[in-house]
Amino acid sequence: MVRTGNSAGLLREFLAEADLPCPGCGYNLRGLQASACPECNQALVLQVALAEPRLGPLIAALLGLAVGAGSAGTWLILFLAAGLIQGFTPPFIPILIMMLGLVGEGVPLALLARRTGRAWFRRHGPATAVRIATGAWVATAVWVALLLAAMLLID
Ligand SMILES: [Zn+2]
Repeated sequence: MVRTGNSAGLLREFLAEADLPCPGCGYNLRGLQASACPECNQALVLQVALAEPRLGPLIAALLGLAVGAGSAGTWLILFLAAGLIQGFTPPFIPILIMMLGLVGEGVPLALLARRTGRAWFRRHGPATAVRIATGAWVATAVWVALLLAAMLLID
């Protein structure tokens, strides 16, 4: 059951006798009478949290996708800029592979980073979470290998 309307009262009750630091600035909140930290003025809420959030696989998956999408986007910008500055048409296949890397990892990254994406990830067991994280890094390795192969074939 969600208790609404009295969350500020519960927060005051909880902090009446507890020496707890503000998560924002570290100020001791014992005896707090408001719903915001008196030091940094950030709003505070009482909430239930997981004892062990198991963030490792989620961070690994987000990082794998971010490395793939970020490097694809960087290479794409560098290729297009070099083509514009030096007046040549960038080779089509490498550009296509970079765009596939950017979209193919950027879209899953954006979806997974959202609250609903993180909730979807946490509904899976630890083994599946590790498989998803591994898949993110494999996807990055695959598009980099495709790009290197395309570059070697052009030269
Ligand atoms: Zn504070």
